[in-house]
Amino acid sequence: MKLDLNEILSRVGMRFPYSVEEAPIVDEDLECDSPIVGSIIFSNTGSVLLVNGQISTQVVLECSRCLRYYQMDVDSVIEEQFPLEIKPVGPRGRHIQVVVEEDENPDAGKLFEGSLFNLTEMLRQNIMLSLPTQPLHAPDCKGLCPHCGTDLNDFTCDCDLTPVNPSLSKLGELLANKRVRIEPS
Ligand SMILES: [Zn+2]
Ligand SMILES: [Zn+2]
Repeated sequence: MKLDLNEILSRVGMRFPYSVEEAPIVDEDLECDSPIVGSIIFSNTGSVLLVNGQISTQVVLECSRCLRYYQMDVDSVIEEQFPLEIKPVGPRGRHIQVVVEEDENPDAGKLFEGSLFNLTEMLRQNIMLSLPTQPLHAPDCKGLCPHCGTDLNDFTCDCDLTPVNPSLSKLGELLANKRVRIEPS
């Protein structure tokens, strides 16, 4: 959804409440499983455009330990501000307020084209930032067996998962060498 914020940008002090009802965003980095709903308020303070509110949705994540997909509720606060600048336009010297967008993150899509605000892109960036860096389908997920790949949440396997003590394994090697040496050839 793109919103034309021309009216609010031209009136200092104006507040514009907006009910968010966006279709689920699905792209290569993000999969929402339900619509994005919430409410936001745009406010023109004269020097900045404030965007405040809260949104919620559900996303599908892949557990970083056992690789299964699971659903997570996202409730996220939106607190953005964009500096405003007065710019002269037209032959009669009128002035309009324009949004100055800082290019902090080159990977993030631009949010403004003139007075047109890309709400979907802002929601996408906001949801991405609220996702865990190491998603876990359960806090105590046991993960996959590093040897046979069995999902240890549901099954057990016969692999020896006791961590090898490095000093003991060194001793084992020495003993093995010794055994080789004392064997009669
Ligand atoms: Zn898991
Ligand atoms: Zn195993």
